Amino acid sequence: MKRRESKSLGWQLGLGFTLLAGTCAIAIAFYAFQARQFVGANYTALVADVVRPQLHTVLLRTALEDLREHPGDPDAASRLDNLLWRVPRHVDGVSFGLNASRLSESDYRDSLARLQDVKQRLPEMQQQLDEIASGGSPEILLHQGQMIENDLAMAYSDLSELLHSEAGEQRIIMERLGQTVAVLVFVILLLVAGLLVALLRLKREHQRVMHLSQVDELTGLGNRRYLLNFTDSLCQQSQRNERPLSLALLDIDHFKQVNDTFGHPAGDRVLQVFARTLQGEIRGADVLARMGGEEFCVLMPDTDADGARELAERVRAAVASLTHQELGSATSITVSLGVATGCQSGLDFKHLYARADQALYQAKSKGRNRVETG
Ligand code: GH3
Ligand code: MG
Ligand code: MG
Repeated sequence: MKRRESKSLGWQLGLGFTLLAGTCAIAIAFYAFQARQFVGANYTALVADVVRPQLHTVLLRTALEDLREHPGDPDAASRLDNLLWRVPRHVDGVSFGLNASRLSESDYRDSLARLQDVKQRLPEMQQQLDEIASGGSPEILLHQGQMIENDLAMAYSDLSELLHSEAGEQRIIMERLGQTVAVLVFVILLLVAGLLVALLRLKREHQRVMHLSQVDELTGLGNRRYLLNFTDSLCQQSQRNERPLSLALLDIDHFKQVNDTFGHPAGDRVLQVFARTLQGEIRGADVLARMGGEEFCVLMPDTDADGARELAERVRAAVASLTHQELGSATSITVSLGVATGCQSGLDFKHLYARADQALYQAKSKGRNRVETG
C-alpha cells in the first residue's frame, strides 16, 4: 500500500515537473522566436540617419522662398546647389541603412521608392538652377522644388514613424523577455523548493516505514530485524576490545495454556507485561527484542558469563513473582532462559545464538522456570 502511494507520488512529481518544464520551454521558444528579429537590432543610428536629413526639407524650403523673393540671389542659389549635392548622398545612406536593418522590406518599400524618385528628379532641378544663373525664369524650378520638398518631408516622416514604432516594439519585447526570465527563475525556484519538500517527505516516510518495520506492535519492543542491526557491530566491538558479549534467549513456559484458558487478548496483555518486566531488568546498553510469539532475546555487550547468568536469574525471578493483578488474569507465568557468552576471536553471532538456543532447550527439558548456560 505504502509502496504504491510513494510510486504514484513519484509519477505525479515526474509528470508535474515534465509539464512545467514543457511549458517553460514553449514560452522560451516563443519569445526567443519573437525577439530574434528585434533583439540586437540597434535602431539608434538608423533613426539619426532619418531624422538628420529631415532638416534638408526645411533648408530646401528656405532656399526656394529666398529664390522666389530674389531670383538672382547668389547665396540662395549656392545653398540650393549644395542641397542638390547632399540630398542624393543622404538618400543613399538611408537606403543602405534600411536594407541592412532587420526591418521588413514591405514596411519601408513605399518611402524608399519615394526617396529614390526624388533622387532621380534632382539632376533636372540642377539643370534648371544652372539656367536661372544664366538669366532663366525660376518658376519651373520653384514648382519642382516644392514637389520635391513635399515628397522628401513625407518619406522621412513615414520612415521616422516606422523606426520609432519598431524601437518601441523592441523595448516592449525586451521588457517581456525580462519578465519571462523573472517568471522562469521564480518557477525554477518553486520547482526546486517543491522537490526539496517532496524529498524531505519521502525521507520522513522512509524513516517511518523503517521504524515500523523494526518495531513489534504489541509490546513496543524491537523485533528480530531490529536486533540484527546491532549484532555485527557488537560482535566486532567485543573482539576489538577483547570484552565478552552475552546473549540470553527467553521463552515463556506453557504460554499456550494462558491463551487457551483466558483467551488470546489476555495472552496479549501477559506478553505486554512480560515485555515491560524485561525492560525494567536490563541495562541501558543491553539490546532487547521480541523474536516472535512468546520468545525474546537480550544481547548484553561487555558482560561475562557470570554477569549474564545473574541478569537471567533476576529476570526469571521477576517474571515468576508477577501477580494476577499485574498480569491482568488469574494466572502466573514462568520463563525459561538459555544463556551463552562469547569472548574468543572470530566471534560469530549465529554460533552464539545457536548455543543459547541449545541452552534454552535444556532449560525446558530440565523442567522449565530455570536458567541454563550453553
Ligand atoms: P513451552 O513451555 O514449551 O514453551 O510451551 P508453550 O505453550 O509456551 O509453547 P508453544 O510454542 O506450544 O506455544 C506458544 C504459544 O504462544 C502459541 C501461540 O498461540 C502463542 N502466541 C504466539 N504469539 C502470540 C501473540 O502475539 N499473542 C498471544 N496471545 N499468543 C501468542
Ligand atoms: Mg516458544
Ligand atoms: Mg513457550
